[in-house]
Amino acid sequence: MSVARESIELLGQLARILWFEGTRHGLRDREWMALRFLSRANRFSRTPSALASYVGTTRGTASFIINELERLGYLERKPSAEDKRSVMLNVTQPGRKFLARDPVKALVDALGVLDQDSKLHFRDTLRHVLDQSDEADRKHHADVCKRCIFLREDRTTIAGKTVVEFTCRLFRAGIAEAETDLLCTSFEHHRP
Ligand code: SF4
Repeated sequence: MSVARESIELLGQLARILWFEGTRHGLRDREWMALRFLSRANRFSRTPSALASYVGTTRGTASFIINELERLGYLERKPSAEDKRSVMLNVTQPGRKFLARDPVKALVDALGVLDQDSKLHFRDTLRHVLDQSDEADRKHHADVCKRCIFLREDRTTIAGKTVVEFTCRLFRAGIAEAETDLLCTSFEHHRP
């Protein structure tokens, strides 16, 4: 068996920790996925439609997931600052605390003991596979601003100090530096 095929088969077995029957700590796998995503999503992606796209479900199913997370006190809806007709989904403090019980923690801990180079190599390998799979399926996975073709970076030097400003060319909005590490479902990667 080729190393590439063996790796993907191992990935498939790891996926069983992400996708499971029933509940873990009271949440179904898709509810965990939604809570995990919303805790890391930027302001453009903390919406019901972006959540549906990330989880790979219909707006109706996403709405059930949102209602359940809201009922448990892990999520709250607020009017969007960008568009008053839309809502923004925010993970509450209890929701962030609850994420410490995330079933994927076992995987994170297993990777955590590796040296930094191995962790970076593992992450970059998965990104490469996702980028290539996007090409094949003509779709886009969610990823961070700092890898996105729409992020513009402007550097100016004022009194000897360099100031960096980020702008999203898709949403025509400023992006704070801390936001460049958050997930976005409108992300597009650079193509060679
Ligand atoms: S730069 Fe890309 S990833 Fe960032 S907000 Fe804009 S579309 Fe999303």
